[in-house]
Amino acid sequence: MNRRKDILVIGGGVIGVAVAYYLVEQGRPVTLIEKDEICAGSSYGNAGLIANGFAIPMAAPGVPRQGLKWLLDAESPFTIKPRPDRALLRWLWQFRGACNEEQMRQSIAVLLSLGQASFDLFDELLAHEVLEFGYERKGRLILFTNEAAFEKTIPTTVLLREYGVDSMLLDAAGVRQIEPNVQPAVTHGIYAADYGHIIPDRFVHELARVAKGKGVTFKTDTAVLGFETSGQEISSVITSQGAFTPNQVVLAAGAWSPLIARHLKLQLPIQPAKGYSVTYKRPFRHGSVQASTSPQLPLSLSERKIAVTPMGDKLRFTSTLELAGYDPSINQRRLAAIRRDSREYLPGMEELEETAVWSGYRPATPDDLPIIGRSAAFENLILATGHGTLGMTHGLITGKLVSQIIGDERPSIDLTPLRAERFY
Ligand SMILES: Cc1cc2nc3c(=O)[nH]c(=O)nc-3n(C[C@H](O)[C@H](O)[C@H](O)COP(=O)(O)OP(=O)(O)OC[C@H]3O[C@@H](n4cnc5c(N)ncnc54)[C@H](O)[C@@H]3O)c2cc1C
Repeated sequence: MNRRKDILVIGGGVIGVAVAYYLVEQGRPVTLIEKDEICAGSSYGNAGLIANGFAIPMAAPGVPRQGLKWLLDAESPFTIKPRPDRALLRWLWQFRGACNEEQMRQSIAVLLSLGQASFDLFDELLAHEVLEFGYERKGRLILFTNEAAFEKTIPTTVLLREYGVDSMLLDAAGVRQIEPNVQPAVTHGIYAADYGHIIPDRFVHELARVAKGKGVTFKTDTAVLGFETSGQEISSVITSQGAFTPNQVVLAAGAWSPLIARHLKLQLPIQPAKGYSVTYKRPFRHGSVQASTSPQLPLSLSERKIAVTPMGDKLRFTSTLELAGYDPSINQRRLAAIRRDSREYLPGMEELEETAVWSGYRPATPDDLPIIGRSAAFENLILATGHGTLGMTHGLITGKLVSQIIGDERPSIDLTPLRAERFY
């Protein structure tokens, strides 16, 4: 390996920006390249939950059966676009293999350790840097309009309790003590304190601003087109703006990571899992959003699989997981279902002004754990990708872990379950 010390980070979403921040904190020269602009991908319009308590992976016992039922419903929150795609078939096979009790329990422990570490890093970041991104720690309230659905969720609550994640089971009155502005149809709730929330795009831009102030070079409109390699080393990264010859390369391109890795003949089992968000203006009452009828904390509309997050002067609804490849189009039928179904739980929806509709790709791995670690194939390549539904939650700890890998420090979290090689 040559004596250069500079590091090239590929991808300007929450993961790439957090990696750049922690590397420059170590005094390393860092360049981040991004094909569009900073925060153009999944990190932009998501639900903004720092969801430490959301530790049951998507790959869990019973999920394939439920998934099959949803596939038959055109408005359901989960769909797969049928197509002859070997990578998708392999992914589905590996997903099915991960849907067992042992793997689920292992993933819960890993997700909780990543989530707790991220909570600590948010506190540390806010104590040491001047930046504002609407971070609040108010927990999350799951709403139910159906007693059977509520009862069905209780085993999950009991399971998480084994791992120290506590939550409160609520009747109709208990729900209204925490969030009074719900429809009469809401009969039960579960409140979990282990959640924070942020304005996701503001977070990424603020962190990028601070990283830039410390010396990170950001190059936008710069797409990776290929690589030159020499033995087990990447010797240069070919981009639309010329070649880079860094000492180390960090691949943090979210759902696009497998397309980039393919240039290195590496297979990363990551599928773009499309989700939607609809954003409204949050109504103000008496000059204050606090006194308005808008929810004051994040909600989950349980039976409809819709997340609702207050974000400053906005209220965002997110839902849906579509395995449809790299197709950003928006399914209007599903969107109409999100708008309609929200009214079952929340009053005054008809009066809200809709300001944006968005789709983004969660970078989903078959076992719902990210891929973080040095590549076994290339000595100077570090993978930091595949964060699925929890990239905003795990962004800071991922940045920290990558800085520890590059600094040859002992990682603060065991990286064995996160290695890419677990899939081979
Ligand atoms: C509807 C929805 C709701 C969600 N809600 C939450 C939530 O509440 N909490 C949570 O923790 N997570 C949530 N997520 C998941 C979270 O958004 C992602 O896990 C996270 O944003 C992934 O970050 P990333 O940096 O890996 O990817 P991205 O943000 O997608 O960034 C990857 C970047 O790489 C760039 N890139 C791609 N190809 C190239 C190339 N060839 N050259 C250079 N650059 C390239 C892209 O332009 C992009 O900017 C949600 C996702 C969705 C879709």
